[in-house]
Amino acid sequence: MADNNSSEGKREMFTKFKKIELPRNVVIGSDALEKVGDTCDKLELKENAIVICDPTTKKVAGQRVAEILTSHDYDVDILEITEADQVTVDKICDEIGDEIGFLIGVGGGKSIDMAKYSSYLTDIPFLSIPTAASHDGIASGRASIERNGNKTSVEAQTPIAMIADTGIIADGPNRLMSAGCGDIISNATAVKDWELARRLRNENFSHYAATLSRMTSDILINNVGEIKPGLQESAWQVVKALMSSSVAMSIAGSSRPASGSEHKFSHALDQIAEEPALHGEQCGVGSIIMMYLHGGDWKKIKSALQSVEAPTTARGLELSEDEVVEAIMHAPEIRPGRYTILGNRKMNRDAAEQAAKETGVI
Ligand SMILES: [Zn+2]
Repeated sequence: MADNNSSEGKREMFTKFKKIELPRNVVIGSDALEKVGDTCDKLELKENAIVICDPTTKKVAGQRVAEILTSHDYDVDILEITEADQVTVDKICDEIGDEIGFLIGVGGGKSIDMAKYSSYLTDIPFLSIPTAASHDGIASGRASIERNGNKTSVEAQTPIAMIADTGIIADGPNRLMSAGCGDIISNATAVKDWELARRLRNENFSHYAATLSRMTSDILINNVGEIKPGLQESAWQVVKALMSSSVAMSIAGSSRPASGSEHKFSHALDQIAEEPALHGEQCGVGSIIMMYLHGGDWKKIKSALQSVEAPTTARGLELSEDEVVEAIMHAPEIRPGRYTILGNRKMNRDAAEQAAKETGVI
């Protein structure tokens, strides 16, 4: 007995703790939007709701969402937004007051980000209804908001439900779905960066989250031939992949599995470029360059992006060569605590140019 006690005494105390938030209901498919009333009923949400959308997504789906909910006896207001900034957040929080039971974000990025963050601050649930499959924030717990002219990623909450209507998404601009594919494909380098940080910095690492994220990217890369503009089948594939990527982030409790050096490159472009391209487009191009720096198969990334008609060059992003080179150089300065292949010092111009030229990005 004495021996037993002493060996237990030496064992380190188990202190790990984790809270994983996942959507409770995920409704994907043809005419999925029509299920919004049933979904809210099932979740037993309170009767007062606000639908957050922009002028375009109001026409595409926001108005219909309000109609359906009204027919299910909910009291619904529509709030149109144009920006995803702190002023908008404050306005939404004011509207929420003590009366509103839940929010619904209907749109691409901004409306969902605003609903996600405002509902988090006021501690009410929110539903995500993406009208485009352009990035993996549609079901994640983090929001991107603009502060002092810069986009920052903030802690928010995972949607209680996501409703993705493949008809609406397939009818949207193909450029948005291509960008979504870029965001998913770029998980390939995000996971490599995470593995590197684990080896070099002993960073917390989740095999489950990393494997799910890599698998999501691999499945899409291996099936890019099936992704075609205007097809609901394609929207289905892309939404499922974005969902899977969001789940990987929820498991990790951070964006780590889906955001590494290629995302730093994209964030650097957002700051440097006069007119940045779409998030997923920039991450896709970033992933080509970062895979080259990792010594991995960057040609596979590039050809997958080409198959889904996503840009693979500075010209394709409608950016100057100099903007791209500057973004590679300055990418390590973005979120320096997140260790990646770029290290944490500004990159040498010659090396940045070399990487961009070797991969045909410039
Ligand atoms: Zn992303």
